[in-house]
Amino acid sequence: MKVTEHLTRAEGKTLFSFEVLPPKKGENIQNLFSNIEPLMEFKPPFIDVTYHREEYVYRQHLNGLLEKKTVRKRPGTVGICAAIKNRFDVDTVPHLICGGFSKEETENALIDLHFLGIDNVLALRGDPIKSEGVFKAHPDGHGYACDLIGQVADLNKGAYLDEEQDDVWATNFCIGTAGYPEKHFESPNSGADIRYLKHKVDRGAEYIVTQMFFDNEQFFNFEKKCRAAGILVPIIPGLKPLTTKAQLTALPRSFYLNLPDELVDAVHLAPDNAAAREIGIEWCINQSRELMAHGVPVLHYYSMGKAEAVRRVAAALF
Ligand code: FAD
Repeated sequence: MKVTEHLTRAEGKTLFSFEVLPPKKGENIQNLFSNIEPLMEFKPPFIDVTYHREEYVYRQHLNGLLEKKTVRKRPGTVGICAAIKNRFDVDTVPHLICGGFSKEETENALIDLHFLGIDNVLALRGDPIKSEGVFKAHPDGHGYACDLIGQVADLNKGAYLDEEQDDVWATNFCIGTAGYPEKHFESPNSGADIRYLKHKVDRGAEYIVTQMFFDNEQFFNFEKKCRAAGILVPIIPGLKPLTTKAQLTALPRSFYLNLPDELVDAVHLAPDNAAAREIGIEWCINQSRELMAHGVPVLHYYSMGKAEAVRRVAAALF
């Protein structure tokens, strides 16, 4: 079922959902299932599965030559989505990225997803390759998420890349997109970021999931600006319980976000990671309660491979 249908059926009740990462290449899917299992108690209507860019690895040969190889360390998003759907009877939302894919490869992935009975996609530009630092589009692919959204929306109308195709059938994906309460790091300002977000909605995105944030005021302001700009689709806040002291620097570095003073001071004073984690969980519960009272459609948690902290938060709320 589509994410938007789940929201309609919920009739204003806040739902619980979360995001998982595909296992690292060579790892068993059982570990992922074991992480998901304890969260099923909170009846998520859908689970997101991330997509990971390829990375460059270098190998020095005995003759001194340096070999550059491309490796995708967490492959299998499409297969993982199908496996989770079958195992837990839950809808899955594969993340689709522009980076590294031609339009034809994207079309083929969409056809696979359609045959697997997957009804949703979260369409993203994707992160740059780590060692490149700057996003580079595939020569036959898309440079921005709006164009990927356009491709999925076209396929929903039965428009395949091969224009000779006559006996067409259409897909029927519900398309989600990413939003940034603290602005995307490449955007010149938040006004421009919201104009691009509006463009993504105009091209066919039916709901927005936000980057994680730790200060609800950021979300409330972002939502207000979106509505003022005419973005009327549901906005789902993304949350993560902070679980280690090191995340005080790692999260802002990776996700270009600000942590509120009160949280930073409390975590600094925590004697160890166990104490920091309790503070992080408590903070996330309070954030979630306020967002629920505000009437958000879904609370969407970034589990980042570790379910226990998210389970503790959900247990306090759902
Ligand atoms: P876009 O919407 O294309 O925006 C990228 C930048 O370009 C922004 O600064 C935007 O303001 C600007 N822009 C947008 N449209 C235009 C335009 N038409 N002309 C000029 N400028 C424009 N990354 C992954 O690799 N895998 C994942 O699974 C993944 N999941 C994510 C899930 C969520 C909920 C979020 C919030 C992010 C996720 N990301 C993921 C990270 C995301 O791919 C990066 O933040 C990426 O840098 C931007 O992606 P986007 O879809 O927001 O890009």
